[in-house]
Amino acid sequence: FMRQLEARERLEALGVLAGGVAHDFNNALATILGTAALIAEDLGPEHPSQPDIERIRASAQRSADLTSQLLIFARQEPRRADAVDVVAAIRGIEDLIRRTIGEDIDFDCQTADGLPPVTLDRSDLEQVVLNLAINARHAMTGGGSLTIRVAPLTQPAAATPSLPMPAGRYIHIAVADTGTGMPPEVVRHAFEPFFTTKPVGQGTGLGLANVYGVVTQANGHITIDSEPGCGTTVNLYLPATTAAEPGTSTPARTAPTGHAET
Ligand code: ADP
Repeated sequence: FMRQLEARERLEALGVLAGGVAHDFNNALATILGTAALIAEDLGPEHPSQPDIERIRASAQRSADLTSQLLIFARQEPRRADAVDVVAAIRGIEDLIRRTIGEDIDFDCQTADGLPPVTLDRSDLEQVVLNLAINARHAMTGGGSLTIRVAPLTQPAAATPSLPMPAGRYIHIAVADTGTGMPPEVVRHAFEPFFTTKPVGQGTGLGLANVYGVVTQANGHITIDSEPGCGTTVNLYLPATTAAEPGTSTPARTAPTGHAET
């Protein structure tokens, strides 16, 4: 448990650092983009240096895209904490997921009925599930199947003795693919910001770091079951909203206290 806490604090510190850098960097990029546009205009469209200026502009734009991802990762402002119907939220983006992963991937979404809500930001949840689906898609270049399952879980449960969450009711969201899988070394580092095995320019390494951030902020837990050559299942366990916590005004959840002492 202590190891987990330390990892979480390290991630939070990295988030604050990354956010600060991204913010200053964005200002610098705005100057580069603006000045490049001015020079391009001064020189006129036929000038032989236009392709060079276009390269400057394109690179600055790529960097700006990366910093905007970073800013999402480092986001400090309180998220909304609503009582969210997980099944409705996931069903709501089912079509988007299907379109995003493409037709050569079988997609199945299995959801239980009558689940209690979970306290978090609905769009964060949608982003998380979409992120996991995109990762799954990237791991299945030769086709395969993606299954999203949503089911209730009562902790402690005999079937899952190793889960470290406090006792209570949870919603279990499993995102399972039949892709490449991940070696233990990759699983160990997967939640770290900027950790990626993808070629430069294709992965930011921020996807699972963002997922981890959303889940832990909702007091949830996340695990990865993966077998190289067989596939990967990412399990999210989100605590059900309790009666004492109506969902719309939960200061403990909206103020990320871990950031307060920095
Ligand atoms: P990115 O996708 O930009 O690389 P992530 O943080 O989302 O960043 O993922 C980190 C790494 O974890 C990926 O580069 C990949 O090696 C591995 N990974 C994540 N999801 C899966 C998956 N479903 N199957 C196989 N490997 C995965």
